[in-house]
Amino acid sequence: MKVTIGHLYPDLLNLYGDRGNIQCMMKRCEWRGIEAETLEFGLEDDIDFSKLDIVLLGGGSDREQMLVCQRLQEIQQDFKEYVEDNGVVLAVCGGYQLLGNYYQTDEGRIEGLHLVDLYTVQKPGRLIDNIILKSELFETPIVGFENHGGRTNIGENMPLGKVLYGSGNDGESGYEGIVYKNVIGTYLHGPLLPKNPHVCDWLIKKALKRRYGQEISLAPLDDAQELEANAYIVNRFVK
Ligand code: GLN
Repeated sequence: MKVTIGHLYPDLLNLYGDRGNIQCMMKRCEWRGIEAETLEFGLEDDIDFSKLDIVLLGGGSDREQMLVCQRLQEIQQDFKEYVEDNGVVLAVCGGYQLLGNYYQTDEGRIEGLHLVDLYTVQKPGRLIDNIILKSELFETPIVGFENHGGRTNIGENMPLGKVLYGSGNDGESGYEGIVYKNVIGTYLHGPLLPKNPHVCDWLIKKALKRRYGQEISLAPLDDAQELEANAYIVNRFVK
């Protein structure tokens, strides 16, 4: 078995070390004897989505988002087909905003990919803090860190989780992120997957199911340290 990860525009969308999330996916596959490969794509490269099992769209500053947005319009159709065909996507922060219809900043409007029905508007003040979610997808909470000026409205879509601590999508709704088919969009950046191995395994399982046409149970790994760290953060912030 093999999982191929596509990392889109790592030179521009790599604000908080998104490569760490890739390493986590690769390692958790390899430790189970599943081959894993990462293909990095630059702005000039063609992307054959049929070769990909997981796509990572990382975080970026407004400037970098503006730079990639034109290229994203060119690949929109292929990317959309991939998503509708249950392709797995992890989109973080700036990448999460780009999944949607648009991101309205003070400097102008950044056109989105229209893969998921959401939109983002920049408002004064940045939402910066630790953040903790309870997701319907997992028993274990999701912990992370957020830093964004954009406020995201996901309409009636399913959020990734309910905010137990922090701001989330817009600081008002009480929800964070989005789940659409096999796409997870979230403001939790940096080491999201190392801090939340359950989220990492969800992505791997969905990718394997799509590629091999059947539910594949993943061999358990020793996540004692990760789960201890996760629980520490939850106990520290959630009263
Ligand atoms: N530039 C976007 C914002 O400030 C996303 C930032 C990020 O990726 N951390 O809202």
